Amino acid sequence: MALLKLSRVQKIYKQGSIEVPALRGIDLEIQPGEFTTVFGPSGSGKTTLLNLIGCLDQPTDGTVIFDGRDLGVLDKKALAEIRRESIGFVFQSYNLIPVLTAYENVEFAIRLVKRYSDNELRTRVMGILEAVGLSGLEHRRPNELSGGQKQRVAIARALVKEPKLILADEPTANLDTATSEEVLDVMVKMNQELDITFIFSTHDPKVMEYAHRLLEITDGRISQDKRREPSGALH
Ligand code: ADP
Ligand code: MG
Repeated sequence: MALLKLSRVQKIYKQGSIEVPALRGIDLEIQPGEFTTVFGPSGSGKTTLLNLIGCLDQPTDGTVIFDGRDLGVLDKKALAEIRRESIGFVFQSYNLIPVLTAYENVEFAIRLVKRYSDNELRTRVMGILEAVGLSGLEHRRPNELSGGQKQRVAIARALVKEPKLILADEPTANLDTATSEEVLDVMVKMNQELDITFIFSTHDPKVMEYAHRLLEITDGRISQDKRREPSGALH
């Protein structure tokens, strides 16, 4: 069964009397374990698409089925629960809590979702921080970390609850090329080891090399959808 199925999805933003069509009929299926890149120029609809998939917004028309559930018929509480339990987010600007350490940012995310004993919790958080390459930096606050390190904390925070899906909206846009590649290697590794489905957006051709599936969006429509062997590192 597809993890995600979008049918005839449209999104029109209203600004006063002006209507801005951001998505103009998206049909898309994503299978569990896929590592997909959504690319296209600025304004083509990438963020809008990820927000609809991530229950952060709702379509004007069409349906989004996530893990067998039609998001259009769920109330706010049920949507918030899916977002919290089943979806991890990674943003361009990291969105870490500045007063919390790397460790605490990750711990905070898992405390919202699952109950662990103090020992289990600590083992899990330390394990995931190690997996993303942050051993020794657990006690630093975001302003004491580089951009790449901050994005690793954000990835750890998304991963720690073992979501079905991770959505990453231009996760490498603020990083230099070498750091982008390191951050992507972490995501590829987690995709392979934990079988978590990833969808990330970018307009960086280097980033696209990592994907198994390339979806191009032009003016709110899918203009290209192809699967191929990734050429990025680790493959
Ligand atoms: P991308 O992420 O590919 O740059 P977006 O999904 O952010 O594209 O935007 C798609 C289109 O929708 C653009 O024309 C943008 O101006 C418009 N848009 C996005 N968000 C809003 C909003 N909250 N209100 C009005 N228009 C919006
Ligand atoms: Mg965007």
